[in-house]
Amino acid sequence: MITTRTRWMVSFAAVLLTSTVGSSASAQSATPQPKLSVHWEELTAADFREGIHRSQGTCLLPFGILEKHGPHLPLGTDLLDVRYAALHAAEQQYAVVFPEYYFGQIAEARHEPGTVAYSREMQLALLQETTDEMARNGCKKVIIVNGHGGNESLLPYFAQTQLDKPHDYVVYVFDRRSPESGGPAKKTTIDMHAGESETSKMMIARPDTVHIDRAATESGADQHRQNLPEDVYSGIWWYARFPNHYSGDGALATKELGTFEMNAWIAAIDEAIRAVKADEESLKLQTEFYEKSKHPLDTRP
Ligand SMILES: [Zn+2]
Repeated sequence: MITTRTRWMVSFAAVLLTSTVGSSASAQSATPQPKLSVHWEELTAADFREGIHRSQGTCLLPFGILEKHGPHLPLGTDLLDVRYAALHAAEQQYAVVFPEYYFGQIAEARHEPGTVAYSREMQLALLQETTDEMARNGCKKVIIVNGHGGNESLLPYFAQTQLDKPHDYVVYVFDRRSPESGGPAKKTTIDMHAGESETSKMMIARPDTVHIDRAATESGADQHRQNLPEDVYSGIWWYARFPNHYSGDGALATKELGTFEMNAWIAAIDEAIRAVKADEESLKLQTEFYEKSKHPLDTRP
């Protein structure tokens, strides 16, 4: 699901979006380098070592999900889309990209065929072990690139809980899947899940999986089955509004919109990778924080 709360978030680091690559990277780019895959699973062990060096320890964890996407898009839409964007960004701004990951929050789609919804304990434990293992292999800067709206609470919470105990790496969360303005005018106002925007992006990422002729066979209208003020939250809100896992109208999707949105997504991830590579503060501050948290009575203004 994609919520209207599109925002771009880099947890833990006050990252400057306009930052430039470090001097070592600039020097590296002066000499042509042999082509190296950005896919973790395609690298040999020796090439992996080179990949970590070239990426300056910056690795991407594109995060998808398996859930119904209207009557016309595949279950793995979020995974396919986010990997397309992340892999293209990593090609431009080298970073090692972790394999397929889809173990997120999707309890609200358990009534639909094909949903894989892990328990909350498993989601957090698996994500922690995954980033720990990435860091043990040299990924000291892990950027979780979110492709699934249902993870919007999970991922900042995961990043916050990295302060529980010391880690020798930093978790960053990047969560902006659509640009806030620009591009071809959109025809729909409700467009949260398998609608105009997401269907358009899939026309770029995996056009062979889009069944546009089926897009109008179900309604993606808001069913308004719950009457609560905006600031009162309940977990059943999504089911109340969009029980068919369809929000918007995918039949109105276009390749033009898809090209615009996908290019914007790739550019935004590219920018995030550059900013994270240049970030030398977060790990230092984290380390200082962990040390101070051992003896809080000594902390003074
Ligand atoms: Zn989706």
